[in-house]
Amino acid sequence: RAKHEGSGACVLYRHELHLRAIERNTIERDLRVAMARNELKLFYQPKIDMATGRVTGAEALIRWRHEERGFISPAQFIPVAERTGLIVPLTKWVLDEACRQNREWQELGLPKIGVAVNVSAVDLKRTDLTDTIASTLIRRGLSPQYLELEVTESMVMQDVDVVIGTLRRLRGLGLGIGIDDFGTGYSSLAYLKRFPVKRLKIDRTFVSDIADGRDGHVIPKVIIDLAHALGVMVVAEGVESADQYDMLRDLGCDEVQGYFAGRPMPAAEFEVFLRNSPAGRGIAQIEASAET
Ligand code: C2E
Ligand code: MG
Ligand code: MG
Ligand code: MG
Repeated sequence: RAKHEGSGACVLYRHELHLRAIERNTIERDLRVAMARNELKLFYQPKIDMATGRVTGAEALIRWRHEERGFISPAQFIPVAERTGLIVPLTKWVLDEACRQNREWQELGLPKIGVAVNVSAVDLKRTDLTDTIASTLIRRGLSPQYLELEVTESMVMQDVDVVIGTLRRLRGLGLGIGIDDFGTGYSSLAYLKRFPVKRLKIDRTFVSDIADGRDGHVIPKVIIDLAHALGVMVVAEGVESADQYDMLRDLGCDEVQGYFAGRPMPAAEFEVFLRNSPAGRGIAQIEASAET
């Protein structure tokens, strides 16, 4: 667009591209340093079962607090990590830390939940992903049913036959696969049937206008019915209000994730959340009565 606005705008546009390139290089350099210094952290956001209110899982979300610039969003640095190949060691670290943490919660006697890790398109195309995950699970002593991978719909549509092969091997290990941001890509329904998937995550953009009284519920309803017809669970992401929650429950959605149910939080805070969740209280009571 800038090109049509004369040469002044064009210079400005080139200048902006240049600034963005510098920004990318800065992020890349600082991210390397941050990884070496262990300055990355995982936050955990609960997934809640709508029927029981139980915490069924946690999504691990990476957090980077830059020493000068404060929090930098993963939406900003993950794409840089993907372009530079830094994503490979980064994903290995996320997988390792999420499995370690989940095993620790289990050893503390907390209710057993699944931990979900986001993987990128770059990771999914690597032939050693299955081995990396298998050895991580063994090293951390976590049984595969408590790990789930989140891949986005657009990722799985890139190279369908290769990806289906990888997903089948991963599923063969015993872990779950969730399709993230569902509804924003272009899955053909025929493909969906071939994906060995446990969960679909309805993208936040559909949830945000679900309770607006017009036709906001139409797409979520189609996704929920389709998923259930294929024997797949549905989680809605980005649920921020009671109205959205009620509407999703009426539509038959299985689980929710979002600020309404719980924000992403540091591990110590999530531990308290899990302990106080309905199932968590149940177990605490059983333990208390066993002691007396
Ligand atoms: P995602 O996997 O779709 O994660 C959901 C995003 O929505 C998270 O943003 C989460 O903090 C945010 N969110 C959760 N509930 C609500 C809500 O009620 N309202 C609103 N407005 N937002 C909500 P976050 O943590 O900034 O992550 C953004 C994206 O970055 C993620 O989208 C994921 O694609 C990527 N990402 C995050 N952590 C990792 C990671 O460890 N590895 C990889 N490869 N990607 C990651
Ligand atoms: Mg995700
Ligand atoms: Mg998502
Ligand atoms: Mg998303």
